[in-house]
Order: sequence, then structure tokens, then C-alpha cells
Amino acid sequence: MQQNKLTSNDRTLHNLIAKNQFGTFFGVSQEIFDGVWKKLTATDTNSVVYISMEIGADPDVFHPLKDKLLHLKKPIAQDPQLKQFVDTLFRGPEKIPCYGGGLGVLAGDTLKSFADCRLPVVAVSLLYRHGYFSQIVDSKIGQISQSVEWHPEQTPGLYLLRDPENPEQALEVHIPFFNEYDQETMASAQVWMKMEINHTLDYFVPELLLDFSLKDNPPPIREAAGQLYNSESSIIKATQRRMLGTGILPVLQAMGITSNTLHLNEQHGVVVALQLISEELQNSLKHHDISRADNSQIIAAADKIAKKLVYTIHTPVKAGHDRFNKSVYAGISHKSCQHILELLAHDEDSPHSYNFTTLAMRVNRSANSVSRLHRDVTQKQFPGFAKKITAITNGVHHLTWISNTRAELFDSFPELNNWRDNPGVLQNVASLKNNKRFRDYLEHAWQKDSEILYSYINAMLLQHRNQMTSTWIDPPNYYSNIIDADTKLDPTVFTVGFARRFSTYKRADLVFDNIDTLCSIAVKDKRPINFLFSGKAHPADEPGKTVIKSILDYQKELYTKSQGLVNLIFIPNYDMKIAKMMVAGVHVWLNNPKRPLEASGTSGMKAALNGVPNLSIMDGWWVEGYHKGLTGWKFGHEGPVDETDLSESPEALLYAEDSASFYQMLPGVLEEYYDEGSRSQFIDKAIMNLILNIPIFNTHRMAAEYLQKYELNLPSSLQSRMNNFSALYNSNE
Ligand SMILES: *Cc1c(COP(=O)(O)O)cnc(C)c1O
Repeated sequence: MQQNKLTSNDRTLHNLIAKNQFGTFFGVSQEIFDGVWKKLTATDTNSVVYISMEIGADPDVFHPLKDKLLHLKKPIAQDPQLKQFVDTLFRGPEKIPCYGGGLGVLAGDTLKSFADCRLPVVAVSLLYRHGYFSQIVDSKIGQISQSVEWHPEQTPGLYLLRDPENPEQALEVHIPFFNEYDQETMASAQVWMKMEINHTLDYFVPELLLDFSLKDNPPPIREAAGQLYNSESSIIKATQRRMLGTGILPVLQAMGITSNTLHLNEQHGVVVALQLISEELQNSLKHHDISRADNSQIIAAADKIAKKLVYTIHTPVKAGHDRFNKSVYAGISHKSCQHILELLAHDEDSPHSYNFTTLAMRVNRSANSVSRLHRDVTQKQFPGFAKKITAITNGVHHLTWISNTRAELFDSFPELNNWRDNPGVLQNVASLKNNKRFRDYLEHAWQKDSEILYSYINAMLLQHRNQMTSTWIDPPNYYSNIIDADTKLDPTVFTVGFARRFSTYKRADLVFDNIDTLCSIAVKDKRPINFLFSGKAHPADEPGKTVIKSILDYQKELYTKSQGLVNLIFIPNYDMKIAKMMVAGVHVWLNNPKRPLEASGTSGMKAALNGVPNLSIMDGWWVEGYHKGLTGWKFGHEGPVDETDLSESPEALLYAEDSASFYQMLPGVLEEYYDEGSRSQFIDKAIMNLILNIPIFNTHRMAAEYLQKYELNLPSSLQSRMNNFSALYNSNE
């Protein structure tokens, strides 16, 4: 019978199902699944665990499996199990809202590159039942945060792992917590797995997400399991860090994973070092009693386990370094743990606190910052560890962030063959620089991406106005009152993009410091400017929320004083999808942090990968990506880092100086964009970003530099491929 015959599509799909004792998974063949699993569980311990508080890898911006199924002619499978997988894939939610910003997106991008490069890595993070938060914006109130409703059970590509002993039940790992009397309370976590599958569907990196929301867990644990970066109390904050740190070893053990290198993506998971030290003491002390260990025994154990840890520090901003009052920590951990912390987590600024950044700095075999300038700042902040702090400049996953239209451009020039596997190939754009077809195609692709972005924004502005009648929310954009069928925002108007977390040091409102000056620049030669802004402030960050509110408050004044030439639009609920539309559709990408507080920044790299020039303070990665003006513009204070104030106090933020520098630069930028005679210089800048910045500021090159710290034993063909990526650049120069 016809129905019983497998079509070739079904065979392809059958090849995408794999099983093991933990469940049934969809996306790679059994052979590939087993190959990855074997590497992670091998007795020769040749793999890495990547540990991050957040992972941003939303399937709506990168999903090679879905792309492949969309291209199959008849993707409907006969097999009921397959049919269910395929249906959920196409109907299920497209977001995994367990990230807050750049750190998580970087983690996701890194894992995708590890998968593309076929490196033996497994990631551990937490699953937050209420995500981070969802942002509503009201013009009178500003940011309103709402708890996210999402259902991991319905999310395609997320699997709740089964207990191999008892397959009807979910796998649980059990982790001891302590109260202030040192009484043990056990907490349990279920384990979800997401597979970060590479673009050729022949490798993956598993992400293990610990879910502490179980009913029987003590209430404080369940509360801490709800929301990423919940900072309602320092107990909740410390508990959340402990959930990650103490969960790592038990989950690896339960799954038989043998990795011996643990990479801490920021210090949030550093409590794993305390676990390792305790284990080491238990094994090495004759009496096996950790509480009787003396200082020198603890130091010796710490030095020994330090050889397993690689640590990446991500910010010079003190608020990003976890410090907990000693009494808070005594309330959740065992006494012996506090003895270790006394020795290794001393806080210079406060004798009553433990400093977890100090602990992470102390206990590792390698510590790195995320750009060259950040290395210099970090060495200054931690003079005792200066010698070992190196730089590995961040990157972004090129297959995630290069827009579809730009990708079609690269696909249609044989000079760029293989750019998907090797972003270094984009160096060859040098031979196309004066090729008219290439230049026209690039301009055309850019216009198309601008149109996509603007159709989203114009629809959003109308929708906000229409919603006003059914909700109490005032549209966050003044322009919602103006837009109608005839007056829409025009995608050919010079468009400045700015999107990232709203933190004080990022100074989102800098370029509106002097609205009269800004408007007079636009009015002088009748050169319109659209500013598109987006981003969330942490719900407890009052100054950050105030900056969002002032962005909303400036809109009308800008519009009026410029006679409608300057528009400022705020796009609520920033996420990876909005980011992807913005970095490809705007004409320049603005970044104006207070130097040197932006350790790297990655959104500007996403723009650069699409050929969009940056307009930025000389901070973070831009010090390396600026290339004497070939790839964009710089402005603002550039003094030596030795003499700068690292605080975020208003006097230290240099608003007047840096905004004046922006106004001085702006007319030249507008001229290049609008003036027919100099337009080709603008396109040159776009092309130089492809040539100079794509090959460097991608996570393949970054992964290759981390690989040098991982000490893995890889097949020589793989090793030499990775060497090619790292040969292009030495971040630590
Ligand atoms: C890239 C990205 C960020 C990081 O932006 P920075 O400029 O590095 O601060 C934050 N949020 C989202 C959603 C992103 O895609």
C-alpha cells in the first residue's frame, strides 16, 4: 500500500531521530547523537563544560533544522512520533526567554560556534519558569515589567530528561542547601536539554538547564528558580547563584559526563569551585572531615582544583561582581564552605562581604577579559592577578546575525564560497570592492533590510495607537499620534540604531543632551534623521528606568524643534529578533558608553557583520574594529584608562564632553549618507566592515582562541581548521 512506503522525505526525517537512556530527541541522526555522547562521556575526559547563568539562543533567529524542513517538499511525516515532533516544531513557541542581555546572547552564540566547529562541549545553565521579564512601555509611566508566561513543555527542541532507572519519571538531581544552623535541606532539580544543532545538522552541543521549580523544594529555592536575576533580596540572589554552582557536578555525574575543564562564563557559577575544593579535601584528608581542614590544606586543595577552571570576566562595573554579606551566605551554606570563602573570597572594600569575583580570579588556570582595552582595565582592577589576565575579544555567531538578504548576496559571488563554514572567507570581499554588481547588490540588500525593519515599526506604531482603546497603555511613541496611511516613517531616511540593556554607564540618552544643537544640524540642510532605540532596564534599576522614560519624553520636543525632521522611536520588549532586524536595517549603529566601562559590546559586531558602520565611543571591541576610520566613526573622550574614574557617578559620566563630540561629528556622517557625491564613501565603509571585521569579530575565531585554553586532544584535521581561525587574530596583542 502507498501509505506504508516511506517517502524519501520521511527517510530524511527518520534519520533525525535519536534515542538514549535519557529520552528521544529530534534533529540529528542516531549515529551523530551517539558520537557526541561518546565524546562527552569518554574515560579520557576530553571535553569542556561551559557554565553560564543565562543562555540566549532563541529559535526564531537561528534554527537550521526548521530551515531544512521548510525546504523539504513534503514535510508531513507518516510516523506518529515524527509527526508530533514536526508539528511541535512548527507550531510551538519560538522563544526561550532565559536571558537578560549581552552575556546570555554571547553564551548562545558561543555554543552555536562550538557546534559548527564540532568541539566536544556541554553547557550547564538554569531554566527560569518566568524567564527574565517582558517589557511594556507606556509614555506616561515608562517601563512596566511583567512576568513572562512560557511553557518549556510546549517549546520545541526542549526535552525533559528521563530517569534511566525509572523511565516513567523525570531525571532528578539532588543538591544540599543549609540553613543558618547548618541543617541540611535537600533541593531537587529536573534537567531540561536543548540541543544547539549546527547548520549542517551533523553535530550538536547539549545545553543542560536545571529546573528547581519542583513543588517539593523549599519555598526560597522555588522562588529563586522563577526569574533570572531576581534581586528582590540578597538571599534570593545568593541562592540563585548557588543553584547554578552546586548543580553542576551532580548533573554531570548523573549523566556520566566526564569533562575535566569547566569554563565559567562570568563568575555566577563559581560556587562549583567550592564544591570541587570540598571534594578534594574529602579525598585528601585522612579523617575526611572538611570542617577540620586547616588553612594550608584548603589552599593546597584550591590550587589543585584551579587547574580545572577557565574563567572569563565580562565587566569592570562593580555591580556586575557578586558580593554577598557574610551573614547572608552563612544562612544558605555549610560552615566549612565559609572557612574556604574566608580564605579565598576576601572583599577589599568590605570586610563583611564575600567577593565572588575575587574567588573566581583566585581559583582558575586561566583568566581572560573580553577585549584588549578591557584586559588593561581588568589588570588594573586586580593587580594581584594582572600577570595571568589575557584578552580574548568577544565575537558573534555570523550565521545567526547576518541577515537573509546579506546571506543571499554572499551566496551569489563565487569568491565567497564556503563563507558559512569559514567567516574568514569574507576577506575576499577585497577583490569585489570595485565590482559594480557587488556594490549595487549590497546597497539593494541593505535597502531591503531597511524596508523589513520599517514595515515592522510602522505596523507597531499603528498597533500601539489602536490598542489604546482596549487597554490603559498610552502608546510609547509620540509618532503613534501622527502616523496614518499617508504619513509613515520612511526607510530611506538616515537611521541610527541603538539597542542594548539600559544601564547608566551605557548612556542611552547621551546624544539628546542638547536637543537644540541636534535639531539645528538636521534643519540646516534639511537632512532628516530617525533614531530607533530599544532595550530593557533591570526591573530594580531605577536610574536605568529613568533613562528609558527620558527617551520617551524627548520624542515630542525633537519632532517639534526639528519641524518633523528628527524622530525618536522606542521599540518595546527588546529581544534577539528585534536585534536582528535592527542591526541589518539601520544605516549606522550607535554605541556611546562611558569609556572604559563597556568591556566589549557585541551588538556593534552584529551590525558590522551586515556591513553597517558603527558610530561609537572608543570603548570595548571598537578600539579593535575601528581601523582608523575605514569602518565607521569614533567620537568622545579617549584618554588613558589609568586616569579614568571607573565609577558611574553623574560627574564621571562626561555627558557634556562626549555629546559635544557627537554633534561635531554628525554633519559629516549625514553628508556621506545623503550627498550623491560622497555616497560611495559610505558604501566603502560598509564594504570595509565585511573585509576587516567579519573575519575577526565572530565566535568561530573566538572559539579557536578559547580552544588554546582548553587543552583538548582533537583530531589533527579539526585542530588545524581551528588553528586557521585563530591565526587570523591574536586578541592578546
Ligand atoms: C547582542 C544583544 C545584546 C548585547 O548588546 P551590547 O551592545 O553588547 O550591550 C543585548 N540584548 C540582545 C537581545 C542582543 O541581541
